[in-house]
Amino acid sequence: MKIDNKVRAVVLFSGGLDSILACKVLQEQGIDVIALQCITPFFNYQIKEDEEAWAKQIEDKYNIATVVLDITDDYLKMLKKPPHGFGRYFNPCIDCKILMIKKALSIMEDLGASFIATGEVIGQRPMSQRRDTLRIIERDSGAEGLLLRPLCAKNLKPTLIEEQGLVDRSRLLALSGRGRKEQMALARKYSIIDYPSPAGGCVLADPILSERFRILLSMWDDVDANDLLLAQTGRHFLLEGESWFVVGRNQAENSKLVDLVRTGDLVLQYKAGPGPVGVMRRYMNPPPVQQAASLLLRYCKVPAGQLAEVVVKDSKHQEIQIVNAERFSAEDVDSLMLNKV
Ligand code: SF4
Repeated sequence: MKIDNKVRAVVLFSGGLDSILACKVLQEQGIDVIALQCITPFFNYQIKEDEEAWAKQIEDKYNIATVVLDITDDYLKMLKKPPHGFGRYFNPCIDCKILMIKKALSIMEDLGASFIATGEVIGQRPMSQRRDTLRIIERDSGAEGLLLRPLCAKNLKPTLIEEQGLVDRSRLLALSGRGRKEQMALARKYSIIDYPSPAGGCVLADPILSERFRILLSMWDDVDANDLLLAQTGRHFLLEGESWFVVGRNQAENSKLVDLVRTGDLVLQYKAGPGPVGVMRRYMNPPPVQQAASLLLRYCKVPAGQLAEVVVKDSKHQEIQIVNAERFSAEDVDSLMLNKV
């Protein structure tokens, strides 16, 4: 794929400022950069909806060429037992980085690249960006001698990449710590005005969602991308027989739930008026539709003690049955929650 003699690098890309800057610092010294954006339902999965449009946007905004890789399958395997453990929540940051670098290594040759770079800054994050963990990440990903951290390279020992003259070490940076001042100044220097906040969009570090993922992954071995997207939408309950039931909280979530419905799911709705969509998945046989209907009615305009009809449909929107139910009390609902929202 390489068409000239330019040195080329694959840069791990998150869309955050540091990864953009890592690309810029390399581009500034004439290195051809290909940004690798790894996606999973835990981060950046929305890119999948229109990869081309996303790539064009990054190219137009930052003049950076990109490659998108869905790493969900390998990520889920790793998440079962990450060798380096979890951060504060369900975030396996060290093994996450290791996996992404392994992915970069696997495509490096095909892309005609000579090394891999990241936007890591020593001391910036407590778990994954300490000096010792940066070293572990390099060793356990198998990228020894092939991994460069352009933003903090001058705080680290020279790499083989620098020693071989593929990059000019004197033009790399010496950032460190949690401060963002220098990054902001660099953003101005490179005219980068529009970039996401450093908090990032990884839901594995979200206190509520991460707990929900942990529970779901401990219950079922075959959790997949659709399950994980479902887990990020609506209120979640475990009904009889550990049947998973999800109720939308607003119109946007109701539409999202309908989009996520797949073969085997049951869809419940209040018959007489507006109300949330309920989706039942991984349910026992027969499904606990009576319990689900009472739960759903809790979120409809139905007075306590009054019977109301709930329609149960299959994934193709075909009506299966009508259930007559009374709405649950707040305590009943609370006791069935998968985890608090
Ligand atoms: S916050 Fe999420 S995406 Fe970032 S390193 Fe940790 S697990 Fe990976």
